[in-house]
Amino acid sequence: MVYEIAIIGTGPAGLEAAITAKVRNKNFILFGSRNSSVKVAKAHTILNYLGLPEVSGEGMQKAFLDHIAKMGIEITEEQITAVYAMGETFAIQGASNMYEAKSVILATGVVAAKPYPNEDELLGRGVSYCATCDAALYKGKTAVVIASSAKEEAEADFLSEYAAKVYYIPLYKDEVHVNERIEVLHETPVEILGTSKVEKLKTDKQEIETDGVFILREAVAPGKLVPGLETEGAHVKVNIDMSTSIPGCFAAGDIAGLPYQYIKSAGQGNTAALSAVSYLTQLENKAQ
Ligand SMILES: Cc1cc2nc3c(=O)[nH]c(=O)nc-3n(C[C@H](O)[C@H](O)[C@H](O)COP(=O)(O)OP(=O)(O)OC[C@H]3O[C@@H](n4cnc5c(N)ncnc54)[C@H](O)[C@@H]3O)c2cc1C
Repeated sequence: MVYEIAIIGTGPAGLEAAITAKVRNKNFILFGSRNSSVKVAKAHTILNYLGLPEVSGEGMQKAFLDHIAKMGIEITEEQITAVYAMGETFAIQGASNMYEAKSVILATGVVAAKPYPNEDELLGRGVSYCATCDAALYKGKTAVVIASSAKEEAEADFLSEYAAKVYYIPLYKDEVHVNERIEVLHETPVEILGTSKVEKLKTDKQEIETDGVFILREAVAPGKLVPGLETEGAHVKVNIDMSTSIPGCFAAGDIAGLPYQYIKSAGQGNTAALSAVSYLTQLENKAQ
């Protein structure tokens, strides 16, 4: 099936884009987390969201999820690893499936972390952002997983079904629950070492010999997610209608730049969806 719109991200930007796409009767798919976004759920008290005075992060999360449930909007829980512009459609690579859509809205939030030294150089040569996608390549090998949140524990468990040895480095404070074959290291990654491929991960405590380093962050940098997309630092370059340098590709929320705010993200999600609707109309007119 070719969707009219694929929305990537379930924070305020992605959810509002989905609501607008639904109101406009579009055939869309929404990728992200059934819990919305950690940046929504983890906030203490939010004072500046219209209609929700002094709401807790959990309260806002519930309000958002209730709203989309009431509209019959479903979330496909799949991490998107790449989006390729193929002319009049986009090929969207998920951790387990491929999808196709005529337009895409990027609402993946912003990546706070800087890449580790050598991360960019060794990407695809031992550095990976998706354990589910690349686990089979590590049959009998050693891999290190650097995880930004507990939701990556399932990825590490899956990887351990293939790899001979898996080290797990949690960058979060919650208790870790991975299977007993995985060695958990409470260390800080410093640098990835290797010339033509990954050889070691240097931490603040040791150098670990490894064939691969899986860096599992909440979001992938936009230029890596969509090859060829014009970016400015951590952000996608956008126009006022939230269009980007690639026709049919729109961006909204933190990924589209400062300020990082819920209401601004939701507003941009609405604009991006309306712009995607106009773009689809243009495509239809061109085809006639
Ligand atoms: C602790 C804290 C408190 C805050 N307090 C306030 C406040 O009081 N007021 C205010 O206005 N703002 C506040 N903010 C800022 C606000 O959280 C952000 O501006 C807002 O969440 C951005 O929304 P977004 O939809 O752009 O992205 P996010 O909320 O970051 O959501 C991004 C979504 O995309 C998903 N995703 C990412 N990559 C992929 C992928 N490859 N495939 C599938 N899904 C993906 C993520 O899982 C997530 O669901 C606060 C932020 C924090 C961290």
